[in-house]
Amino acid sequence: MIKLGIVVPCYNEEEVLSDTVEKLETLITGLIEKDRISRDSFVIYVDDGSRDKTWEIIDRFNREKQYVQGLKLAGNVGHQNALFAGLMTIRDEVDAAVSIDADLQDDISVIEEMIVKFESGNDIVYGVRSERKTDSFFKRFTAQGFYKIMKMMGTKSVYNHADYRLMSRRALEALSGYKERNLFLRGIVPTIGFKSDCVYYARKERLAGESKYTLKKMISFAFEGITSFSIKPMNFIMGAGVAMIIAAVFAAIYALCSYLSGNVVRGWTTIIWSLWFIGGALMFSLGLVGQYIGKIYMEVKERPRYIVEKRIKNE
Ligand code: UDP
Ligand code: MG
Repeated sequence: MIKLGIVVPCYNEEEVLSDTVEKLETLITGLIEKDRISRDSFVIYVDDGSRDKTWEIIDRFNREKQYVQGLKLAGNVGHQNALFAGLMTIRDEVDAAVSIDADLQDDISVIEEMIVKFESGNDIVYGVRSERKTDSFFKRFTAQGFYKIMKMMGTKSVYNHADYRLMSRRALEALSGYKERNLFLRGIVPTIGFKSDCVYYARKERLAGESKYTLKKMISFAFEGITSFSIKPMNFIMGAGVAMIIAAVFAAIYALCSYLSGNVVRGWTTIIWSLWFIGGALMFSLGLVGQYIGKIYMEVKERPRYIVEKRIKNE
């Protein structure tokens, strides 16, 4: 039977936490009764440097309830890092880990389905929102625009999947090999490989409290997602440089024609031509330098070059 660990990052979640703990406790007990998971399965709440009573609540539940564990981070490191901390802490202790947000907007009843898919050989099972009716128009619009831009920029990501997923122990092991500081888990996980599948659910309303993702955090998160995975923006600059140099040729022809027709001020021709040419050349060089910086950037991440799925041999 599999040992399951559920990781819940919590930042100032005192309003929802008690409810969440009760619901997850019920879920775990149910799964144990059904013999789906082993008795030593657990939920670990990661307190991401909250300034409210979050840790006190976790601490109290840890004493009262059997399946509650806590991990307190020294300061606020953000959702992605907090989640990573939780996953790395338990990776040697579990067969599979499920990550879920503290507000339970993601439907916990599909965890069972995730386990079934894990047992049938999937190392990663993504929770995918099949609809987002409860999200405000603004959230839906920004979120979906975000997934589209990510795709355009060449980042591998699962459409409408956030950080609700199951990962096997070996997938966690592989994840630990990603040394980068700028974590963008939903982009990294699909690059790991292994057999994966999706489960679908409708996203719910936040239980209580407010979204911990302010517009500012959302924008910086999106920017992080793109710049952590893609050096395409630099290709755009280079492309723009080339386009400008081509435009310079046309500008030169135009300027020459105007010069020959005689109705221009002296010196205008050369100025117009050099303006376009220098602009294009500068932009092109900037993009070129960018290409090297991009390479350095990719190198310093020290990502694993490959991840072995299995090896077979005859003794
Ligand atoms: N969170 C965190 N650290 C932060 C911000 C958020 O651990 O600095 C957690 C938060 O407690 C929640 C999850 O990340 O469990 C997602 O946050 P939220 O539900 O506010 O985001 P939204 O669903 O609005 O995108
Ligand atoms: Mg939420």
